[in-house]
Amino acid sequence: MSNDCIFCKIIEGVIPSNQIHSDDLCVAFPDINPKTKVHILIVPTKHIPTIKDLGHEDEKLMGHLIGVARDIAKKENLEGYKLQFNVGEKGGQEVFHIHLHLMGN
Ligand code: AMP
Ligand code: ZN
Repeated sequence: MSNDCIFCKIIEGVIPSNQIHSDDLCVAFPDINPKTKVHILIVPTKHIPTIKDLGHEDEKLMGHLIGVARDIAKKENLEGYKLQFNVGEKGGQEVFHIHLHLMGN
């Protein structure tokens, strides 16, 4: 948990969100500023700032995020979609708590 992290606050319920999935490793909720018809963020409950900060111990977690994204996409009847991590300021990352964008139309 990082005190200044908006996604940690969402995970803790301090900031409200419309959670569509939650398990022991991650939560998922709609992006507040959707760039596609379906735009969902899959966010690990563990605070890891960026992909650059991942350790080997996080490999299972990262695979889990992709599996959750696939399951949500199926529920949303998305035939095709994009999965995206923005990495670092120059990679377009604004929130420094790893999250996977699921985007589909
Ligand atoms: P990134 O640029 O990869 O760091 O993406 C951060 C995303 O978080 C952006 O698409 C924002 O629209 C989204 N976002 C920021 N604050 C919230 C929030 N309170 N609830 C849902 N999504 C948010
Ligand atoms: Zn955080």
